[in-house]
Amino acid sequence: MFDELLDIDPGAEESVLVERIAAIERLKSAAAAAQARLAVALDSQRRAAEAVAGVPAARRGRGVAAEVALARRDSPTRGNRHLGLAKALVYEMPHTLAALEAGVLSEWRATIVVRESACLDVEDRRRLDAELCSDPAALDGVGDSALAADAKAIAYRLDPHAVVDRAAKAETERNVTIRPAPDTMTYVTALLPVAQGVSVYAALKREADVCCDARSRGQVMADTLIERVTGRPADQPVPIAVNVVISDHALLGAEQGAAAIAGYGSVPSAVAQKMILDTVADARSRATLRRLYATPTSGALVALESRSRLFPKGLADFIGLRDQRCRTPYCDAPVRHRDHATPHWRGGATSGVNGLGTCEACNYTKEAPGWKVVTAVADDGTHTAEFTTPTGAHYHSAAPPMPGTPKIPLSQAELYLNGELVRVIAA
Ligand SMILES: [Zn+2]
Repeated sequence: MFDELLDIDPGAEESVLVERIAAIERLKSAAAAAQARLAVALDSQRRAAEAVAGVPAARRGRGVAAEVALARRDSPTRGNRHLGLAKALVYEMPHTLAALEAGVLSEWRATIVVRESACLDVEDRRRLDAELCSDPAALDGVGDSALAADAKAIAYRLDPHAVVDRAAKAETERNVTIRPAPDTMTYVTALLPVAQGVSVYAALKREADVCCDARSRGQVMADTLIERVTGRPADQPVPIAVNVVISDHALLGAEQGAAAIAGYGSVPSAVAQKMILDTVADARSRATLRRLYATPTSGALVALESRSRLFPKGLADFIGLRDQRCRTPYCDAPVRHRDHATPHWRGGATSGVNGLGTCEACNYTKEAPGWKVVTAVADDGTHTAEFTTPTGAHYHSAAPPMPGTPKIPLSQAELYLNGELVRVIAA
């Protein structure tokens, strides 16, 4: 049936094309419902087996969300969301699951209904499920925001205290995050309680109201934010450590390519070069240079020169710079832990090869029973990790190549950092 549906004839009549698009959309929803049932089955089988094996109740099912994530080529964070959604749908919200199965709701809309009912107890959650999703016709033409508003209204009517309590709990989740934006810009996002969030925005807006130079309102607000948070004018280099990985050729302007900023990602080498030169030119800033050695063919980072006498610190830096992001496939979270792939207690070495940059959650997940990670260095120098999950599924992870692999011989060049001569020698 799938094959027939997915066999595309671009020459078909327009009405047939539209009907096929709609049919495939229903198929995607039905597939999401089937994935939810499968995830719940996996979770309950695993928990039952672990109960038999004597694993304490609180530790059962650890790592299942990460397995779901890997199978779906998604991040562990989304894996948690997928498994949470699956359990809510299968155990507590049969009408929402049926609407998903029938293609009346998309997976995202089902997620909205589950999210907005999360603060309710099981009985109220079932009531919300029936009230909102038992009639497919009532969901026709309802968009994401309208659906969320309907679910919120029902939840508040059923249990106002739970909604208020949830708001109080949400305040504990205030946070600041960063992610790349196009054109070497970045989004710094603050999740704040509404009163503080509105007051931050109002303070920046007030500054824009009284400012009368050539800058736009948005520019004044952004500059004011930078100045108040860093304590320095927006056009001055920032007095904190920013790790930039750039090839010697790119740093000296002999080639154009990409450079990597730790915790951000890839930027054009010309942008990184300007950042570094601005820092060097500013007497109040301090720039330091360390040599990283990459293999010429693959660009794999193979060694790091550290002036530090403490070997572990140099090794931790090396792993962080080599891996750049958590090494679990699809995770993308910043590296927080330098982890032993083969655990220390099993004789795993504290070495670059056995070392793995991971986020906190993934480090914890791979300690769960049945998980195994084997690391190696390929012939071209690339550091690889093979993840094996409790079901025996394998997933491959490779450290990213370093930017700007040297292509032309550079005999010896000289670079001054804060008046000190540093020699850059080609790898
Ligand atoms: Zn991770």
